[in-house]
Amino acid sequence: MERDEYRRHGKELVDYIAEYLSTVKERRVCPDVKPGYLSLLLPTSPPQEPEAWSSIFTDFERLIMPGLVHWQSPHMHAYFPALTSWPSLLGDMLADAINCLGFTWASSPACTELEISMMDWLAVMLGLPDHFLHHHPNSSGGGVLQSTVSESTLIAMLAARKAKIAELKSNDPGADDAVLASRLVAYASDQAHSSIEKGTLISLIKLRLLETDEDFSLRAKTLIQALEADRKRGLVPFFLCATLGTTGVCAFDCLSELGPLCAREGVWLHVDAAYAGTAFLCPEFRTHLRGVEWADSFAFNPAKWMMVHFDCAAFWIKDKCKLQQTFGVNAMYLQHPDSGVTVDFMNWQIPLSRRFRSLKLWFVIRSFGVLGLQAHVRHGTEMAKYFESLVRSDSRFEIPAKRHLGLVTFRLEGTNSLTEELLQELIQSGTMFLVPATINKLFIIRFTITSQYTTSGDILRDWNIIQQSADKVLTRSPQH
Ligand code: PLP
Repeated sequence: MERDEYRRHGKELVDYIAEYLSTVKERRVCPDVKPGYLSLLLPTSPPQEPEAWSSIFTDFERLIMPGLVHWQSPHMHAYFPALTSWPSLLGDMLADAINCLGFTWASSPACTELEISMMDWLAVMLGLPDHFLHHHPNSSGGGVLQSTVSESTLIAMLAARKAKIAELKSNDPGADDAVLASRLVAYASDQAHSSIEKGTLISLIKLRLLETDEDFSLRAKTLIQALEADRKRGLVPFFLCATLGTTGVCAFDCLSELGPLCAREGVWLHVDAAYAGTAFLCPEFRTHLRGVEWADSFAFNPAKWMMVHFDCAAFWIKDKCKLQQTFGVNAMYLQHPDSGVTVDFMNWQIPLSRRFRSLKLWFVIRSFGVLGLQAHVRHGTEMAKYFESLVRSDSRFEIPAKRHLGLVTFRLEGTNSLTEELLQELIQSGTMFLVPATINKLFIIRFTITSQYTTSGDILRDWNIIQQSADKVLTRSPQH
């Protein structure tokens, strides 16, 4: 492709994207395709000769679009939001073109320095403690953008493991690291995200998933019992991942109880606020943050609800030395005249190379302003409240867990199979996309408000479809 062709098609593509995103709610949310559909349509070998853009793009519409889930649709209620926005798209368009790999300060100074400032802005916007700031006289910490919250959790766990092994070795200098690591135990609630389990699988760490209270919240009493039991077994508790906004029902672990306990017991407190973190932009939602001053590390995903598109996970650590002692490398070709004086983010993460993610974050924060972002969170929460009120108005349904923020859970009264059938019916219709969860052996449906453009009309339309589908299911199973 030549430069002038790029200019022409690039402009066409911007128009295409604007049209796609403005009309996305008219599309079927989930595709009507079977596994393997695409390999039947694609040639088995790549073209030998260059192909024209028009032919490539025609195939995108013909082959790829029909196989997509439209995550930006207001009728997408599955998982958590993964929003984008115009300034975010523009930010990444530039970052993609520049394509610098900011692993050290010297490899692109603006990439590192903008990220440092954005992480400080974000920490202040969310009301996080000063000890997470790069630029603060009382702070030894700082923030960094990672690809995902899963990776952030793994990074926190590895840093905590390294620190605990160093502590154990100070009493037993000859001990083998692997032997000490085999005694370490990590904790999370039974509602925690699967990424915690994955982190312990990768790092060969024992994991205890602890029971939660009636609000699906992990409490100090439960953690104390687990710590005592493990210490009696000769094990070494070293890491707790507390969740603010669990994936199943958006429950909040009790940080104000867990924080002081972890500090007393020498347990690293990591906070996973993947989805709910965005809500802390609004002071009225910060009650669940109480106790965050005890956190050793904290992660949330601007790429979920904050309209900065994937990938962009914000991760802060209280003591950056603990990160650098875990991930620091010093190859000759990575050194530069300011090594040791500047921040080199390659030492704060697993890969070497890193994208210029802070550009889209900067564009979004400046384009919406804090007030615009707060209004967005409040709008999503209001839409969820509206949906909740509709569900409560129909006695055939129940809401099995307290609604928090933009997530409402619901089920049909009666056996699990009724709700399972209802979910099948809704997904097969293609009119909306929802996923289930289980709590206390109950099969429930999660209804998340995703799009910033969701209107009460969209909610009402979806609720009407849910009611009609429930009519069908209940007629088919009169014995309920
Ligand atoms: N933690 C929680 C509570 C989540 O809900 C999710 C995903 O929804 C994750 C972690 C994983 O996020 P990521 O996809 O950024 O790894």
